[in-house]
Amino acid sequence: MAKILMKTPLVEMDGDEMTRIMWKMIKDDLIVPFVDLKTEYFDLGLENRNATDDQVTIDSANATKRLGVAVKCATITPNAARMEEYDLKKMWKSPNGTIRAMLDGTVFRAPILVKGIEPYVRTWKAPITIARHAYGDVYRDVEMRVPGPGRVDLTYTPADGGDPQSVCVHEFAGPGVVEGMHNLDESITGFAHACFSYALETRQDLWFATKDTISKTYDHRFKDVFADLYEAEYREKFEAAGIEYFYTLIDDAVARVMRSEGGFIWACKNYDGDVMSDMVSTAFGSLAMMTSVLVSPHGYWEYEAAHGTVQRHYYKHLKGEKTSTNSVATIFAWSGALRKRGELDGTPDLVRFADALERATIGTIESGKMTGDLARITTLPNPQQLDTEEFILAIADRLQKELA
Ligand code: NAP
Ligand code: MG
Repeated sequence: MAKILMKTPLVEMDGDEMTRIMWKMIKDDLIVPFVDLKTEYFDLGLENRNATDDQVTIDSANATKRLGVAVKCATITPNAARMEEYDLKKMWKSPNGTIRAMLDGTVFRAPILVKGIEPYVRTWKAPITIARHAYGDVYRDVEMRVPGPGRVDLTYTPADGGDPQSVCVHEFAGPGVVEGMHNLDESITGFAHACFSYALETRQDLWFATKDTISKTYDHRFKDVFADLYEAEYREKFEAAGIEYFYTLIDDAVARVMRSEGGFIWACKNYDGDVMSDMVSTAFGSLAMMTSVLVSPHGYWEYEAAHGTVQRHYYKHLKGEKTSTNSVATIFAWSGALRKRGELDGTPDLVRFADALERATIGTIESGKMTGDLARITTLPNPQQLDTEEFILAIADRLQKELA
């Protein structure tokens, strides 16, 4: 069988730990045998980020700006324990944070539904897609430890030489902490556009929530930008499509989501999206059954898994023990990126390959072959629990038949 040809390379961002192990298996067993794979490779593994002073992360984001489509493996965000474990020069920032700040945009995360894995929430019947704003707030903050009594101010100095404006954050009587965050009208507007367009494209209602009653300027700005844009550009289109835009407070949204039937897009500020996407994906079955794509208003696409590097499984793997780690989200990152590349390049064979890879993956699980996280919760009778590599090989077997 001739391999499927690619025109433009993907930006390939390799990562850490168990997901790095699966990354190689997915390429070797599910992609390279079928596709004449072209990528520009960037090693975002923590050792190489440390060796390059994190330049490799910046280079990979710039390559994405040039080529348009990237696929990213999960990566370690260093903390104090990692500083020691990897003997790091510095506590490097989250690569996702760096890349998202450079590409801007919105992360859409949707659960992958398969027969036999039922949502924990009884009322949920259709997927809930989380649209996470990918710029600013706590992910681009500055922080300071306040060592003792004193005053902290927030000051704006106009670039045109106008009078500075200041507000007092707090008069500290003793030690404490302080944080400064920002966001940009341009980024919030891009986020709102992405959400409204995605809702129209997929014909689903759009929900949005902030805490504007408490955050009367910061969160209120998000509410106003969405409301103004909706009235100016989207209300008529939404009405024609028979879908709704719904705004409420974040705590009310959480309560309503839990008793909903699903089938809508939930637009979240950056932090809410980080937290809620793990809750929603877990409630739909497993963190590993979730697609994640960063859609940039400038036309860049970055596909990734929503989960982390699965450290606990990696340590078992290092000890030579068998692991049963779910590779579905990482496989769907590859299929998503290959499909988008095929659409942009006008190579329908590549699009068909991506579809076949996803069908083979879902079909494998529905036939009863799955990893431990799913075997524990499936309603299918007699599930067969496979180890990490066996599961990927079972998909490869099915994919051969799909493509024959
Ligand atoms: P995690 O890697 O998502 O894993 C947390 C737990 O969830 C695992 O121990 C495992 O549970 C389960 N799990 C997650 N993915 C799974 C999969 N594919 N198959 C089976 N089970 C899965 O989160 P973490 O352990 O908190 O973080 C580890 C590292 O990942 C950290 O260094 C963090 O910085 C990084 N991280 C990276 C990203 C990213 O790059 N996108 C996102 C989040 C975290 P059991 O152990 O119970 O089996
Ligand atoms: Mg997270």
